[in-house]
Amino acid sequence: MKKVFDSIRSKGKAPTYKMFVAGKWVQSSSGETQEVRTPIDSSVIARVPKATEKDAEAAVQAAYASRKLIGDMDAVDRAALLNKIGDLIYENQKALMDAIVLDAGKPVSVAKGELAATAERFKYAAEEAKSIRGESLEGDTVPWHRKKIGMVMRQPLGVVLAISPFNYPLFIATAKIAPALAAGNSLVIKPASDDPLAVLMLTRLMELAGVPKGVVNTVTGSGSDIGDYLAKHEKVSMITFTGSTGVGQHISDICGMKKLHMELGGKAPGLVLKDADLDLAAKQCVNGALKFSGQRCDAVSRILVEKPVADKFVRKVVAEVKTWKVADPKDPKTKIGPLINERAQEKVDSLVKDAVEKGAKVLLGGKKGKGLWYQPTVLDGVTPDMRIAWEETFGPVVAIMRVKDYEEAIELANRSEFGLDACVFTESLDKALDAGMRLEDGTVNINAAPAHGLGNFPFGGDKDSGMDREGIKFSVEEMTKVHTIVFNPK
Ligand code: NDP
Repeated sequence: MKKVFDSIRSKGKAPTYKMFVAGKWVQSSSGETQEVRTPIDSSVIARVPKATEKDAEAAVQAAYASRKLIGDMDAVDRAALLNKIGDLIYENQKALMDAIVLDAGKPVSVAKGELAATAERFKYAAEEAKSIRGESLEGDTVPWHRKKIGMVMRQPLGVVLAISPFNYPLFIATAKIAPALAAGNSLVIKPASDDPLAVLMLTRLMELAGVPKGVVNTVTGSGSDIGDYLAKHEKVSMITFTGSTGVGQHISDICGMKKLHMELGGKAPGLVLKDADLDLAAKQCVNGALKFSGQRCDAVSRILVEKPVADKFVRKVVAEVKTWKVADPKDPKTKIGPLINERAQEKVDSLVKDAVEKGAKVLLGGKKGKGLWYQPTVLDGVTPDMRIAWEETFGPVVAIMRVKDYEEAIELANRSEFGLDACVFTESLDKALDAGMRLEDGTVNINAAPAHGLGNFPFGGDKDSGMDREGIKFSVEEMTKVHTIVFNPK
């Protein structure tokens, strides 16, 4: 029996995939491929086309030529399409989850969550496709416009370039793809080279769901080879990018006049105040720091705990971290799998070493594990002179800074160059509200670790963490433009 993904890859243990341009599954125009390795044992699990500028050009031209096929489609039909994609994701969940577990080294439990949230994002976007509203404005707010009537509509932008990172390959790509289609845009998608397989499979599901030919184009290959070409392309109307601050900044510098949506790095502080429920705070902060080995933009990557409760809190944190199973991500009980690559492992290790040299105490872990694993680590006594207080960790490290009081916690939290997420643990409504207002981050969670969820709440960063907000409703609006018709009655 022919299987769903047979047409996009060769047979065998390490298949060669094709990419999707202008409604066809194709190889790179150069015939070159690049290896995809699993972080579980660093073996090659697949090859994908190494797209050239010629391929990038073909993808943009196809998206541009097809933009009316989706832009002119009725909202009710776009909604049906998005719902169908959501259904197909559920129908093919085993294959997609296996891809994420192997390709990203993601523990099964986390992959399960990513899968469900991806399907639900498409379904949520289906609802939003039917809720795009314009407005009618009467001219009588200006004396010489009294009789005029303005019809203000929301129209698609045209071609949206979606560039996604390695850490949530399906979910983050979907945070861009689903609202772009809901708003009636065509797409060029560029997944991360570390784990592009799930996005290629998702592309196949979009094809099966009936997305018109040319509306969705997925090109694989190195961002440094084709990224600039795509970002500068004059037929691209908007770039929606999630990734590191450095690459985001570079894209902003070179892209010219385009709408930009930037979801960049983070350094979320967790403020634990002296009246907090310490059991809840410890559990949430550890989950926030360690989930998917801390490879999340919204990871709690520094904890600011008030001194009077610090000893008690730290004991609870250490006890909680000890319950986290470190093993093969394919084992359903595993909570800590490998990091994505050697560079990531080196970065985490250098941050920990720097902290230890400057006086931080290692209460657990503190070293590389086998292969690409890093031991779940608890560092106490982190101080502002240490790199780990400010740089994105992207590893399984709980970094604890003891602060003298609430004001110092707020000051240190806001001293960061990042401003994506924060969380505050307190039983006081006044403190929660005060911190919620004063913390300079896109989202502040009270009594829970940050989590971007389905996109029902908007999320996104200030400062070096990006610009604008994602979230299905908010992204749909961002991905449309205002178009006005003014009636001038005689
Ligand atoms: P990178 O910035 O390394 O890569 C992100 C994407 O950009 C990849 O697809 C990459 O391709 C591509 N890229 C690289 N160079 C260029 C270029 N010159 N032009 C266009 N595209 C390019 O990020 P990571 O994949 O390592 O992801 C981790 C980062 O993402 C962290 O900083 C994290 O905080 C951030 N992130 C932010 C989120 C948010 O909501 N704010 C959510 C999740 C992650 P290739 O892989 O081929 O190099």
